[in-house]
This record gives sequence, structure tokens and C-alpha cells, in this order.
Amino acid sequence: MKPRRHPRRAYDKDGKMYPPATVATTLAARYRTVTAWCQSHRCAHHAEIPLAGLPPDLPIPDIAIGRRCSKCGGRDVIIHLNVTELYDRSFGGKDCTPRGDP
Ligand SMILES: [Zn+2]
Repeated sequence: MKPRRHPRRAYDKDGKMYPPATVATTLAARYRTVTAWCQSHRCAHHAEIPLAGLPPDLPIPDIAIGRRCSKCGGRDVIIHLNVTELYDRSFGGKDCTPRGDP
């Protein structure tokens, strides 16, 4: 019988759990927010969640626990890195939208 896996954790091919990012490790990586995404069918609403004030040892995926989508009321919410912050860092805040065909 396979051991049960935590639904909000990642595992390697041997079944070993990767330690999740926490509020403290994400703040140390200079992120100030994460993005909550609604996974309910046809919704895809998303919102930024500030990390300030959250417990430092809280795993990032667990920020989703108990949250509901403010648009549809769905409970299937997942947490991602805020890619806007990532792009701002990577591209200096410049618009990186492709401009037509090459
Ligand atoms: Zn929703």
C-alpha cells in the first residue's frame, strides 16, 4: 500500500517530500505577496495576498486553507508565487508582452 501524500506538497520520484516554501523563506527571497488562484471551473479569479503579518513558519501552499474565492465563492484555491513580482525583478518592471510576429 502506497503511503498517503499531502495534497499541498511536492514529492520527488522516490516519494520524498520537498520542504515547502514558507512565509519566511519567501520574504527572504524578496517577495512581498503571493497570488491566490481560484481553480473552480470557468472562474480563474486571482488576487494578491500580502505576506506581512502571516506566521513566518506557515508553508506557502497552506495559505489556501480556509480561503474562498471572492468572485464565485469556490473553495478550490491554490497559492502561487506572484509572477508580477518575479517579472518586475527579471525585466526591471518593463512590459515583457510579445509585440506581434517576429
Ligand atoms: Zn472563483
